[in-house]
Amino acid sequence: MSELRWKALDAAQNRIIPTINIPEGKVTDFYGIHTFTDEAMKTLLSPDAYKKVSFAIKSGENIEGNVADEVASAMKSWAISKGATHYTHWFQPLTGGTAEKHDAFFDISFDGQAIEKFKGSALVQQESDASSLPNGGIRETFEARGYTAWDPNSPAFILYNTAGTGTLCIPSIYLSYTGDLLDAKTPLLNSSTVLDKAATSVANIFDRNVEKVTATCGIEQEYFLVDKALFYSRPDLLMCGRTVFGHSPAKGQQLEDHYFGSIPPRINAFMVDFEIEALKIGIPVRTRHNEVAPGQFEVAPTFEEINLACDHNILLMDIMKKTAIKHNFEVLFHEKPFAGINGSGKHNNWSISTDTGVNLLGPSSKPKESLRFVTFLINIIKAVHDHADILRATVATAGNEHRLGANEAPPAIISIFLGTQMTKVLEDIENKEIVEIEKGENAYIKLGLNRIPSILLDNTDRNRTSPFAFTGNKFEFRAVGSTANSATPMMVLNTIVANQLENFRKEYDFERENDPSKKEGIILKILKRYIKESKAILFEGNGYSQEWEEEAAKRGLSNFKLAPDALKAYISDSTVEIFEKMKVLTKKELQARYDIRLENYIKKIQIESRMIGDLAQNHVVSTAVKYQTRLVQTSKSLLEMELKDEAEPIIQIIKDISRHVKIISLKVGEMTDARRKANNIESVEERARLYSTEVKSFFDIIRKEVDKLELIIDDEDWPLTKYRELLFIR
Ligand code: ADP
Ligand code: MG
Repeated sequence: MSELRWKALDAAQNRIIPTINIPEGKVTDFYGIHTFTDEAMKTLLSPDAYKKVSFAIKSGENIEGNVADEVASAMKSWAISKGATHYTHWFQPLTGGTAEKHDAFFDISFDGQAIEKFKGSALVQQESDASSLPNGGIRETFEARGYTAWDPNSPAFILYNTAGTGTLCIPSIYLSYTGDLLDAKTPLLNSSTVLDKAATSVANIFDRNVEKVTATCGIEQEYFLVDKALFYSRPDLLMCGRTVFGHSPAKGQQLEDHYFGSIPPRINAFMVDFEIEALKIGIPVRTRHNEVAPGQFEVAPTFEEINLACDHNILLMDIMKKTAIKHNFEVLFHEKPFAGINGSGKHNNWSISTDTGVNLLGPSSKPKESLRFVTFLINIIKAVHDHADILRATVATAGNEHRLGANEAPPAIISIFLGTQMTKVLEDIENKEIVEIEKGENAYIKLGLNRIPSILLDNTDRNRTSPFAFTGNKFEFRAVGSTANSATPMMVLNTIVANQLENFRKEYDFERENDPSKKEGIILKILKRYIKESKAILFEGNGYSQEWEEEAAKRGLSNFKLAPDALKAYISDSTVEIFEKMKVLTKKELQARYDIRLENYIKKIQIESRMIGDLAQNHVVSTAVKYQTRLVQTSKSLLEMELKDEAEPIIQIIKDISRHVKIISLKVGEMTDARRKANNIESVEERARLYSTEVKSFFDIIRKEVDKLELIIDDEDWPLTKYRELLFIR
């Protein structure tokens, strides 16, 4: 084993940066060339078919059979001309990743001729016997049929394999034979529809011309890079995506010299390479930098319509994984690959904007627009306050548990950071008397709404400890884990905000009928009440502090540190009520998601627990005992030579090793028993609870002893590639 470590180190230190094919011209010359864009459709379809498809995309209605045939034929010719040989419905099952099954365009016709075929029906809908994809009991195995159907909102694209041939990927939704939603994408689409409706009706209070409101999203993605050989030398990285053991290196992130530092050449080459691939597929990547921890980096695109942004994010992860192979890197998307240094998240920047070109969360110097701005801002605060638990549930996974609730960014308590200026604005609205506005008076000035600066200074001075922060003209949900599919948290955010805006519009209409005051006064009256009802969630201080935990408890805010506890919100009465009312997910679909997430949690912890047992016994203890035998020999020789004083420290080391080995063996045994006990429990809820409390409680105890042994045993013999090697060799 230690031989593997040395070989890996040797390989990692002798890497040659591969050549990258930089496309000719400017980025705009190759941006989107692997995407079947609107532009491509316009050129390749008949004007009539193009019109019909555009209408179907806008209205969400079905595409007629003959039009689908024409689109399919155009897509096929386009894809084949670009070297594609296969096509697939690319969808997002509840596993969290994506699924694809490639079918060749090539076929044999009834008279034995070789042909290239792709019919409209194959484009629009496919039956998939993906009976092993998780369905949370929605599909019985005897009825394993599921359907994937093209989502024309997200353009088709070609993914190339290392052999250079391509597959036409058709972004699709995935549902069961009975119509139950089995994926992450369809609920997001539903939520965008209801958000559009509710937000448009509120935007119309201020501007009648608004016809559509779209949620926008920009996803910052953090990741670690580890040399491939070093990655393969660590069974825990290979099996769990994270290291279960490893003593902190002498240097971690304390010097803060990595963040925004110059990007190492080998890493930079990788970034350039995957960015080119991403740009070709129409993913607008823009930002790259080093993150806080050594070996940690970030990529961020320009924001897009939310459905596209979420598709693009998981697609980008896939492209990064594939490009890394060429560069002899492994990308780690796990939320906490290494103990003692920062983990990785995925900041979801979210806003809503109108078809008239207005970002509804953008402050303005015009008082009238300021009222609209605070109306949306406060409604969002109320939505997050009232439904923080379901938002928290969407980011509850085994991996993210290491961040949320541990001493990591951000805390498990959902709170909102506004910045000093907006905090003051809200305080004013809450506390100021609502004044009667006389005819001819400027209502906005009288209400103090002329004092919101159009650029908020806090935008630059941001509170990094807040899970949900207002950052100038958008909210940033930072609790999302780096492996997550953002579609789910964003779907929940859309839905709870839509629900709240719908309630607001109802209250407003009701008041308008019964109260002769000006509309501005009525709006402020409602907003005043909302602030009072939801200000408990506003917090500007240090989210990691013990004081905040205590303060949050006093305020009645939830603090679910363990994922299984947080997940319960999926099936709470209030969640079911809202999601059914908004027609985003049914009770059955929520229950299925709850079950799948619990199962996933259990499996992850189970795998980690087995890995810990295996590594501890078969790699660490065995090495320790071998080393100990050598020490015994040495001390014996010393004693034979009557060098008692010289033998003393060696005997002490022998004893220390025995002590650690004893605890490790004992605890691994107890952990195995705990697992056995948990596995015998029928109820998935109870099993998850046992895994999160009992099984997992052994992880740190065993780790501590193993990490101690790492410091004692001869470096030559130590079997596991060390942190300093994993993090600093590149
Ligand atoms: P920081 O790391 O300082 O938060 P970045 O520039 O890395 O900032 O990321 C900010 C992200 O927010 C980008 O993806 C950006 O496109 C996105 N963003 C900016 N404006 C909006 C908006 N109106 N709606 C959604 N996302 C936005
Ligand atoms: Mg950010």
